Amino acid sequence: MPAMLEDPTAPTIYRTSGDMPYPLPGAALPAGIVPRQVTLRDRVTIATIIPFSSPDQVPITLLAYLADQLSREIEKGDTYPMIDPLPLESFGPYWFGVFGAVMILGDVLNIDEVHHMSRSGCDWEKACLGSFYIKPNYPGRSSHVCNGGFLVTDASRNRGVGRLMGETYLEWAPKLGYTYSVFNLVYETNVASCRIWDALGFKRIGRVKGCGNLKSYPGEFVDAIIYGRDLGQDDDFVSEERFDKIRFYLKNGKYPNGADRAEKSRLRSAATHYKLIPADGDRPEKLVLKGKEVISDPQRQYEIARTVHHKSHGGINKTTAAIAEAYHWVRIKETVSQVIRNCPECSEMNKGLSAMRVQQARVMSSPQASITPTQPSRYQPRREPSRSPSPSDQLQMEAAQHAQMTDPVPRFNNNNYDMPVDPALMDGVHQTTNLEDLPPSPFLTAGRGLPLPQLSSLDSSAPVARTNEDTAMAGVEERAPTAREELRRRLTRAGYRTSPNE
Ligand SMILES: [Zn+2]
Repeated sequence: MPAMLEDPTAPTIYRTSGDMPYPLPGAALPAGIVPRQVTLRDRVTIATIIPFSSPDQVPITLLAYLADQLSREIEKGDTYPMIDPLPLESFGPYWFGVFGAVMILGDVLNIDEVHHMSRSGCDWEKACLGSFYIKPNYPGRSSHVCNGGFLVTDASRNRGVGRLMGETYLEWAPKLGYTYSVFNLVYETNVASCRIWDALGFKRIGRVKGCGNLKSYPGEFVDAIIYGRDLGQDDDFVSEERFDKIRFYLKNGKYPNGADRAEKSRLRSAATHYKLIPADGDRPEKLVLKGKEVISDPQRQYEIARTVHHKSHGGINKTTAAIAEAYHWVRIKETVSQVIRNCPECSEMNKGLSAMRVQQARVMSSPQASITPTQPSRYQPRREPSRSPSPSDQLQMEAAQHAQMTDPVPRFNNNNYDMPVDPALMDGVHQTTNLEDLPPSPFLTAGRGLPLPQLSSLDSSAPVARTNEDTAMAGVEERAPTAREELRRRLTRAGYRTSPNE
């Protein structure tokens, strides 16, 4: 999971902008950056993430093991841009020169214990799960913007190690004085890595076309994503895990492993609002907040949103409100928007609407035709927070695809959807066959000979530049993608290659 930009053999850059104090090589770490106990994906295995502020603090056997792991990753030729492996003497300053962390199996107290493990001949291949660094991404006046490099060791793939290191990165980087994080180069084919950054609230702030000449993709150039993220913002990306912790606390009457004092206090206060209803026969255990069932599993969230939406194909607000009567999770609206975008029936309707608008535009551009002017519609393009696909999206897309296959005939048998339909516009469309019969419009007569109004300017009440996420239903030039196109777009973005003819 690389994010490097600089020459790995260049001298170390320290942070010299942002909040004081600036770090000194090997100096004591800021308060709050202490060995952190974490639980792996199996919810049983304990590991500890140990922070280091200089390569000298890392036992040489561990340093050598990590250098070897990075070299292997470089030699695989698919994730890091370097071609030649780094020698051990360059690896130390490159990885641990400013700040580095190592994830080690078990409950490890401190650096001394790591040295003790090393002296006792510890097999790092088994004990070391991964490592990451945090360092300035730019020099001097911009050195308060940081960069991270991540390494998940061979033995510890698919155990949630990358995600746990990513969460710890987000917790520690602001404490080290950084305000923003940039990953310069994440090849799009590195799906595991992209999923983690998408899920942890990083934004895709750029794409470098054809940036990677990678070993597994001979004869083609792979795009690289630039990720950016504010540090220290409200981090509700951990919300799912938070619900699990509340559940654990209510059930067992004790704090989960690794809870610090602040977390314990949060849990005690949360426990007064939440109730745990024990399992009963076939009915599973439920966590309830003010009478609403808490749903922390993204797949269940999606299923619920889909079921509720499919009852009436309601719009985003209506569906969200209906769900919120019985359920609680963070960002219900976002789940709903995803469901609607994936809904084959709603997307058929989008297509119909777009076709009507195109027709409308043609009518308006014809000098002979006249038509009742459309008032600026109150319709605004959806302004969902642009979130990139998360690991659960894959399942959701499959679900959408399945729905499309099993129910190929779009049903228009209810008008119960709150689509942004401009009544004047629809009137015009319904009467396109006898437009000539309509009285001439004073609006168009006056405006004849002037540049054509752009239909998309109806959207100009939204001051923010539109992103790709927002183009669904946005107007003539940007017709809403069909479910199939949307699926292809997402798959491509998630690193799956799709041929345009499939
Ligand atoms: Zn629908």
